Amino acid sequence: MTSVTSATAPLLDYDQVIAKYEPVLGLEVHVELSTATKMFCGCANKFGAEPNTQVCPVCLGLPGSLPVLNEAAVESAIRIGLALNCDIAPWGRFARKNYFYPDQPKNYQISQYDEPIAINGYLDVPLDDGTTWRIEIERAHMEEDTGKLTHLGSDTGRIAGATTSLADYNRSGVPLIEIVTKPVEGTGARAPEIARAYVTALRDLLRALDVSDVRMDQGSMRCDSNVSLKPIGQAEFGTRTETKNVNSLKSVEVAVRYEMRRQAAVLASGGTVVQETRHFHEDGYTSPGRSKETAQDYRYFPEPDLEPVAPSAELVERLRGTLPELPWLARKRIQQDWGISDEVMRDLVNIGALDLIAATVEHGASSDAARAWWGNFLVQKANEDGVEVSDLPITPAQVAAVVKLVDEGKLSNKLARQVVEGVLAGEGEPEQVMADRGLAMVRDDSLIQAAVDEALAANPDIAEKIRGGKVQAAGAIVGAVMKATKGQADAARVRELVMAACS
Ligand SMILES: [Zn+2]
Repeated sequence: MTSVTSATAPLLDYDQVIAKYEPVLGLEVHVELSTATKMFCGCANKFGAEPNTQVCPVCLGLPGSLPVLNEAAVESAIRIGLALNCDIAPWGRFARKNYFYPDQPKNYQISQYDEPIAINGYLDVPLDDGTTWRIEIERAHMEEDTGKLTHLGSDTGRIAGATTSLADYNRSGVPLIEIVTKPVEGTGARAPEIARAYVTALRDLLRALDVSDVRMDQGSMRCDSNVSLKPIGQAEFGTRTETKNVNSLKSVEVAVRYEMRRQAAVLASGGTVVQETRHFHEDGYTSPGRSKETAQDYRYFPEPDLEPVAPSAELVERLRGTLPELPWLARKRIQQDWGISDEVMRDLVNIGALDLIAATVEHGASSDAARAWWGNFLVQKANEDGVEVSDLPITPAQVAAVVKLVDEGKLSNKLARQVVEGVLAGEGEPEQVMADRGLAMVRDDSLIQAAVDEALAANPDIAEKIRGGKVQAAGAIVGAVMKATKGQADAARVRELVMAACS
C-alpha cells in the first residue's frame, strides 16, 4: 500500500489524447446477488444489519466448518450468463484464491478461477444517440464477497495512517458475480461514454433479472475500470491501470476520462505507465494503490470441500425461459405504445417514474393519466420532500384508483389532488380519503339546484341580465355555486341548471 498522493497529476487535453492515442478498456463489474442467504452458509444476506450479527462458523472460516453451495445463487449466475448471451459451462470447479488479509478470516476466498460458469458472451449496449455498441463478455463467474474493514484515525479513511481498524463479517460470504469484458477497442473519443453506457445497461439488465438490488451507492454493484493507451496504428496494447470500486455511473465515465488524460501526459512526456490499481476519488481523480498482483501470488487450487457445479441442459433451458425482455427494448415498446417523444421518455427514466407509470397502467389507468400524475404532481411532491418519486408512500394501484374516480366523475382533477395528498399523508386508500375528507363530487341535482336558486336570489340584478339574454353574465352565478359547493359540483351541469332557471 502506498499513501494517497495529490490530485494534481499532469493531464493532457482530451482532444490531444484522441489525436495521438487509442484507448483500450476492460470493465470488471462485481454484483452482489440478492439471495435470501449467503453463498456457502445459511446466514442472512441483508444489507445494513448490526456488525457481525449475520455470521456463523462457515463464513467466519472457523476450523472444521464446511461450505454448502447456495442453489439459488447458481441459478442467478446462470440467468445472468444467459442474459449476456454466454455459453454456460456444463461442469466447473470452484477454486481457492489464497491471500492473507483481515477482511477474509479463512485466508482464502472461494472463487471460480479458470472454470467460470459463463463464457464468451456479449451485450449490445444502447447509446444516447440511438445506436448500439457491442461489448464482448469474456466471462461471468461466481465467488464470495469479503468482510468489510473500516479504518479509523486517518484523514482518508484508508488503512495508511489509521490507528484502528474494525472488521464486519456480515458481508463475508455474500454471493458475488464478477462480469468481465474482453478488451473494448475502437471506441476512440467515445471510450468514457461507452464505459458508462455499458455499466448502465448492465445495471438495468441485472435489475430486470431481479437478481440484485444493484445499488452502486451501497456497494452491491461495483465497477473496476481498466484503461490503457496505445499510439494510433499500434497493434500491441499499452500498460493498463485498474481503477477500483468506482461507485456511480457518472464516476465510471469520469474515471476513464481521467486515466486517459493522465496516462497520455505520462506517455507524451516520455515516461512509462506503471501497471497498478488506482483509487477513485469523488472529486474526479485517481491516485495510486498497490502494484498489481499476478495470478501466481494467489496460489489458486481447486476447492476440495465443494462438488463441481454441473448444471443440466434441462435446468439451463428452464432458466432461459425465465429471462425478461431487455429493459431498453421494453422501454422502446412502451414509448411507442404511449406515443411519447424521446425527450419525454428520457425525462421519465431520469426521474425514476417509468416503472411506476407502467405499473399504474397495468392497474387500469390510461397512460396519459398515469404519466400526468407521476410526471407532474407526484414528482413535484417528491422534490418538495427531498425523496425519490419511488419512495413516496403511494402505490401505482392507489394512483390508478384515483384516476378511476376521476374517470367516473366522482372527483374533479382538483379534488383528486387533495385525495392524493391524503393518501400521501397516510389517511388510507383513495376511496377512504375521499369519504373522510368529504371530497366527492355533488352528483345530486336537487342539491345543485338549491344552490343555484340561492345564488340567483342573492344576485337579482345578475339574474335579470341573464334573463335579458346576457349569457356571459351566467359565469358569476356559476362561480358562486361552485364556491358554495366547495368546488364539488360539475361546473357544466351548474351552467345548464342556471340557464334553465333563467329561461
Ligand atoms: Zn455464515
